[in-house]
Amino acid sequence: MKESIVVYWMSRAIRVDENPALVEVCKTAKEHGAKVIVVFALIPNFPYANTRNMDFLLKGLVEVSDKLAKKGIPLLLYQGHAIDAFEYFQDKYHIHAIINEHHVLKPFLSSQEKVREWCLYQDVDFVLVNTACVVPVEEASGKLEFAAKTIRSKITNKYKGYLDEINLSYSQHMDTSGRFTIDQIETLLGNYPQLKLSKLTPGEEAANQVLSDFIENGLDNYDLRNRFDSKGQSYLSAYLHFGMISPVKMIREVEKTNHRNAPLFVEEAMVRRELAENYCHYQKKYDSLQGAWPWAIATLSSHLNDPREYIYTKEQFEKAQTHDDLWNACQCMVVEDGYLHSYLRMYWAKMVLLWTKHPQDAIDILIYLNDTYFLDGRDPNGYTGIMWCVAGVHDRPWFNRPIIGLIRAMGKDGTLKKTKFDPRRLKHDI
Ligand SMILES: Cc1cc2nc3c(=O)[nH]c(=O)nc-3n(C[C@H](O)[C@H](O)[C@H](O)COP(=O)(O)OP(=O)(O)OC[C@H]3O[C@@H](n4cnc5c(N)ncnc54)[C@H](O)[C@@H]3O)c2cc1C
Repeated sequence: MKESIVVYWMSRAIRVDENPALVEVCKTAKEHGAKVIVVFALIPNFPYANTRNMDFLLKGLVEVSDKLAKKGIPLLLYQGHAIDAFEYFQDKYHIHAIINEHHVLKPFLSSQEKVREWCLYQDVDFVLVNTACVVPVEEASGKLEFAAKTIRSKITNKYKGYLDEINLSYSQHMDTSGRFTIDQIETLLGNYPQLKLSKLTPGEEAANQVLSDFIENGLDNYDLRNRFDSKGQSYLSAYLHFGMISPVKMIREVEKTNHRNAPLFVEEAMVRRELAENYCHYQKKYDSLQGAWPWAIATLSSHLNDPREYIYTKEQFEKAQTHDDLWNACQCMVVEDGYLHSYLRMYWAKMVLLWTKHPQDAIDILIYLNDTYFLDGRDPNGYTGIMWCVAGVHDRPWFNRPIIGLIRAMGKDGTLKKTKFDPRRLKHDI
């Protein structure tokens, strides 16, 4: 008789600590007297995969694999589509259920759809668990929200009910010798375009350390974070993107400090972040001008024929070859570090709208740069941030100006004043 298993298809929450999907899979396995197998499907030609983001992901995954092995749970890396991994398991095991994290972005949704159909046909339960938000996106709101002010109270009225710590008290006896290990990484990385690695250390241990360091040293300066050298930013975005830290734990720990800046952090890391999740969940055109509000589409359309002083190609932007030393310095940081200071990200994106022929060109170029280079790229926050800058999503109409119409303007002088950043500090050749 085939052994019974419950599969955790891990994709958005690369962690053991406070991972509700892992807790759910262990609970289901216990109920069915089954064993747990965790699988990560390395999808071929995944959009914007490169050595920077894959090294970070795979090393984080090895840490999880080693931790799970101590509980007798194997984490297997499958090179191919998840559905093929499940077909393969089906030959060896009886699968009771497949558990995956809740996603909002299109590349994952299409994989999930195929697995859902397969499960239906095979009579296997398919369950999605929220791991990326404090308040699950559909419980926060049942519709596309207009702005931070329309979603804020919906989240803040509910989130306390989600802040409890969850612990995993589960172990089993299963052979874990075929699990994913560090010696497989180098060969795998050979398949991807090469980019300089991030200075951030991958994995959930590192993520928890970054959170502790931020609470101890950064939170004090969080209100000053618009200044480039304030050391007020948390640097948690990449860990959140790969699910190496629990957003619930992050919010709980920061709130526990009762620090005067804790509410500011909660506004960004919970309200704004979960507003981005709401946008990408309910607006599937999150990567297109058509995903903007009607006033923004109308105003940008009415300025399409305005003369542009500068128009650059994607290659010129990528190589930081604009006339503007501030923009070029930002782009050098994007390429070199895979991270850009939050306030500068807005300037970086707004200028692309001014220096392209069409707002859709600006969106396409920004998505390409954002998702290729940022370690936290390919994230709902990225698409929403770009749409906020270029197409006024979650913003309101401002004053009518050439090219950008009623979209909020940003200027170089104001940005330099606010950030106190000196572009001459950086070399400008990529
Ligand atoms: C054009 C543009 C592109 C962006 N691209 C990305 C991206 O690809 N990935 C990404 O995670 N963020 C993106 N952001 C949002 C934000 O700039 C980054 O999350 C932040 O700079 C990351 O640094 P941090 O973790 O040190 O931020 P902190 O200031 O320490 O914030 C803590 C957390 O709050 C959340 N957060 C902060 N600001 C925002 C915001 N404006 N909207 C939503 N959530 C926010 C993030 O999860 C962040 O990690 C983008 C913003 C803009 C304007």
